Amino acid sequence: MLNNLTLAIESISLPIAKQMKLSLQMVRADKIHPLASGNKLYKLQPNIDYIKQQCYQQLLSFGGAFSNHIHALALYAESLGLHSIGIIRGEKEYANNPTLSAASKAGMTLLFVDRSTYRLRHNKDYLQTLQQQYPKAFIIPEGGSNTLALQGCTVLMQQINQHYLDDNTKLPDVISVACGTGTTFAGLVKGTLKNQSVQGYLVLKDKSVYTTVDKLLGDKISESKHAIQSADFGGYAKFDSELLDFILAFLKQTNILLDPIYTSKMCRQLLQNIEEGKFKSGSRIAIVHSGGLQAWYGMKNKVRQLGGEAAWEAIANKL
Ligand SMILES: *Cc1c(COP(=O)(O)O)cnc(C)c1O
Repeated sequence: MLNNLTLAIESISLPIAKQMKLSLQMVRADKIHPLASGNKLYKLQPNIDYIKQQCYQQLLSFGGAFSNHIHALALYAESLGLHSIGIIRGEKEYANNPTLSAASKAGMTLLFVDRSTYRLRHNKDYLQTLQQQYPKAFIIPEGGSNTLALQGCTVLMQQINQHYLDDNTKLPDVISVACGTGTTFAGLVKGTLKNQSVQGYLVLKDKSVYTTVDKLLGDKISESKHAIQSADFGGYAKFDSELLDFILAFLKQTNILLDPIYTSKMCRQLLQNIEEGKFKSGSRIAIVHSGGLQAWYGMKNKVRQLGGEAAWEAIANKL
């Protein structure tokens, strides 16, 4: 199914890129599917193919109350006639937030657990108990991060390159992507061709991404030409008026809306790197818009509070 998708890639022009003689392109993975946004489709689809072969009837996964993964999984599963179960970190009250109400409207069963239970999400015994409770369910880790997801993200990299080959234009030298678990990053790395490097921007403080990526790739990322750097700007999902201003300015210049958690922080750090002259003149940078726009609905009040009604309207206009 992934092979039937058409991936759009758009040139973006920013004064700083021109000044530094760089070419920037945005990979519009955010536009790839109406239900499963961005990288989540690439991560989910190979899982879906697998569970159909294995005749599982349910999908079970884990996430926070605003999780893009939970949102994508619920909506996409419904469209395929599969039942989904979400183990959600936090209180029942979250069920009314935009992410989780969309998920439960799509038929997802929401099970709320406290933080200490949620911490068990990678624990073998806990997973075994869950499997006994839900024998028909295929369990997908938090963030959709497993080896099947890795394969899907390699397909994404292949599609990016194919796009340039079809267009008869030079391949990008650098691929820029936001990192949570690092699975998307690792999948892209696997799909790169000679002379391409992937640069990941980590939007959370937890550094387990390096272990995850090393494990997925079976290689030490720190010893390769690919790299991950911090871009959490205060921590996961921390959102302030500077970030909002950045997003609104980026929107004005490019007509592209970034998401509030991942791609905005990646682009902010990337542009700082560009300003600091960290890229060779002539570099071609492909920026992956990994989606996540649904998170804006949960940020409505925050945006209004920080930037007023006009700020919210500018964003809502693109949703
Ligand atoms: C989940 C997500 C990511 C992070 O993907 P990982 O594979 O966990 O690193 C990046 N961007 C968006 C928009 C996401 O929803």
